[in-house]
Amino acid sequence: MLPFARPTIDEETIQGVVEVLRSGWIASGPNVKEFEAALSRYLGGRPVRTQTSATAGMEHALLVCGIGPGDEVITPAMSFAATANVIVRAGARPVFVDVADLDTRNIDFDQVEAAITPRTRAILPVHFAGLPVDMDRLYAIANKHKLRVVEDAALAIGTRWRGKLIGSFGDLVCFSFHPNKNITTIEGGAVSGGSPEEVRALELHRFHGQVKTGVDEFDYPFAGGKANLSDVAARVGLGQLPRLEEFNARRRQLVARYFELWKDNPPVRLPARGDDGHSWSFFAPLLPLDHLRITRRQYIEAMAERGIGVGIHYPAIHTFTAYRKFGYREGQFPNAERIGRETVTLPLFPTMEFSDVDAVVAATNEILRGARR
Ligand SMILES: *Cc1c(COP(=O)(O)O)cnc(C)c1O
Repeated sequence: MLPFARPTIDEETIQGVVEVLRSGWIASGPNVKEFEAALSRYLGGRPVRTQTSATAGMEHALLVCGIGPGDEVITPAMSFAATANVIVRAGARPVFVDVADLDTRNIDFDQVEAAITPRTRAILPVHFAGLPVDMDRLYAIANKHKLRVVEDAALAIGTRWRGKLIGSFGDLVCFSFHPNKNITTIEGGAVSGGSPEEVRALELHRFHGQVKTGVDEFDYPFAGGKANLSDVAARVGLGQLPRLEEFNARRRQLVARYFELWKDNPPVRLPARGDDGHSWSFFAPLLPLDHLRITRRQYIEAMAERGIGVGIHYPAIHTFTAYRKFGYREGQFPNAERIGRETVTLPLFPTMEFSDVDAVVAATNEILRGARR
């Protein structure tokens, strides 16, 4: 079976993890500190604090900005549910806007500007599949309206905007190290940026809010969460980060092969190509369902029969039960809804061969060409 995603963990990293397990110190410790320092160096020296996920990082980033009940946060309807869930969990109202088009799947900044009210406190954009949003436009809007920005960069470690790494500038930038992302710590995440006070607050939010006030005394200025990375996870990350550029270069080569094989009359709608700054966290064309006699489910099953795994990234968020409760409904964000219905994530990971890409393309061509209306 060819899966749609697969982590690449080398033997040296596995041996390193064994050493951490034998060391007697397996929770947050020296490896976490070292991993954060390595991430900070990679991101041009900005402060970086790990969390157990991008989700925890984004939730804590919003809390650190003082965002809560009565506040509004603008975010795209096309992303993973976590992007909006963290806004609700912080106590604020998620204000959805559509994505600008079917190909970049990135937030529509005209709609962002139109959605700003006196209650708006932040924008939470997503670098979709690792394609950066227009950072000039994002920060021009944020500065003009004095809004905070929490970037969902779960898919964008190694992404560059005009040559500059996402996370090396901007406001609070949140990465994910889930196994399906560009690098992994098994589960994990990190927040780049923040003032010294905000960085300290991120440390408190991830560990109960606990402050040591004396040799035998603690205080809890607020009720914190629990999202500190383990040293075992951090050691995995220390083996991954030096290979990130190599992994992403390989992803771009494999994507170039998909584009080459589908340069004439592809049976699918290809995503925006971007430039060499695209991290290609996943490769997700759209199925032209209006012109097919089969459903997406039937396509996925036919691919599975041929030994090929297909993922879904993502159904539109605003139609989920949790968001209908805020008054959102089908029909409001046509691009997000169409992407949600038609998207299929095809295999893409660094250890794939070109022949695997060829097999995915051949299988898709065969299934879809036989199903045309
Ligand atoms: C994976 C993902 C997340 C969540 O990352 P976790 O580390 O699993 O919390 C958030 N947003 C997007 C766009 C993602 O793809």
